[in-house]
Amino acid sequence: MKAARIHEYGKPVVLEDVPIPDIQPDEILVEVKACGMCRSDAQLIDGYFRPFADIPTPITIGHEISGVVHKIGSAVPKAAGFEEGDHVGVAPGWGDGICRHCLIGNTHICPNVRWPGFGPYGGFAEFLPVPARYLIKADASLKFEEVAPLTDAGLTPYRGIKKLRDAGALGPDRVLGVFGVGGLGAYGVQYAKLLGGGAKVVAFARNPEKLAIAKDYGADHIIAIKNRSSKDITKELEKATGQPDIDAIIDCTGAEEMFELGFSLLAISGHYANVGLVSDRLDVPLLPRVNREQTFHGSYWGNNLDLMEVMALAAEDKIRHTIKVFEFEQINEYLDLIRAGEIIGRAVMKF
Ligand SMILES: [Zn+2]
Repeated sequence: MKAARIHEYGKPVVLEDVPIPDIQPDEILVEVKACGMCRSDAQLIDGYFRPFADIPTPITIGHEISGVVHKIGSAVPKAAGFEEGDHVGVAPGWGDGICRHCLIGNTHICPNVRWPGFGPYGGFAEFLPVPARYLIKADASLKFEEVAPLTDAGLTPYRGIKKLRDAGALGPDRVLGVFGVGGLGAYGVQYAKLLGGGAKVVAFARNPEKLAIAKDYGADHIIAIKNRSSKDITKELEKATGQPDIDAIIDCTGAEEMFELGFSLLAISGHYANVGLVSDRLDVPLLPRVNREQTFHGSYWGNNLDLMEVMALAAEDKIRHTIKVFEFEQINEYLDLIRAGEIIGRAVMKF
């Protein structure tokens, strides 16, 4: 089968032919139909994660995976209801199933977690083995290229906004800011409207083309931030929403300039959920966090339940997709585009 693998960090991935993997009794062999490309694929290749997890090569990249059930392991229970040919999305964080995080469903923060695309098997290959409990059935009406990014770009902001909602930060007479309208933020704006409980949704981004998507996807206001002072942005925010600050922020960038702007705009008792990883440090003044009683939420990817909810929204046609389809042979070319921030929405490889 075809596979795109890292043999050496910092070098282009190698597109090569490798054997189709075997499966364990509790696994299903998935025939990959589509795989989204994430900024973290480029970060993995470029060595961003090495100080935290120095994964041995070869690594098959790709973690936003959709496909069909090709072969079912002998120990997969009949009750799971899988049949060959079923359309599936691959839930990303494969926990050990026995720790306290797994037991409440958060398998993606299990200390023994495994990830497709960060080891021997990934989605930029024609097949991969997946433990049956980490496959979510996808409605057959959905295109494979739409299902694939729902497992990360369309999942990660969903969990972040759920955290804001569960913390009581959303509702009428509140302002919810969506920072960044890239692969994640294009979904984030839509979830902000769906879960915001009446909050005014304001999208912030540098790129006017991305802001136009936010407007199209239901943002009540859009604010361009490129080359503008925080004072200037505050003025525009107040004019648009009637208040100079933001009650809740979902930051889809994790970029230094966004933290600076976001924390300067965060209201008393405000909540800031970050899901992005553009920068590698957080450096903000401390006192306002304390005397304004603000809360920071780290929010990572999503669990199976989050993904099932997102899949349900998609099946009910409540999510719109901004997708650029490319071919397996173009993987290195698209990695360069993603490094340059030049992808609008999500780039998805389709076999
Ligand atoms: Zn666990």
